[in-house]
Amino acid sequence: MAKDPVCGKEIDEEQARNQTGQTMHGATEVDPQQGTRMFHNGVWMYFCGLECRSKFMATPETYSAQA
Ligand SMILES: [Zn+2]
Repeated sequence: MAKDPVCGKEIDEEQARNQTGQTMHGATEVDPQQGTRMFHNGVWMYFCGLECRSKFMATPETYSAQA
């Protein structure tokens, strides 16, 4: 399990990785309701949703120390 650095919620990486499909260019589409992730400082950060990811993106230095 990964931890959402913003709200501390446990994130199921498998769920976050779940693909809902692929775009015609081969990029993966994920369901943000199942959690989301972003690549930051060489590691994947997992978030429970887009709201937490947005908060992290606004001030990553606030959260990355806890990861
Ligand atoms: Zn969260």
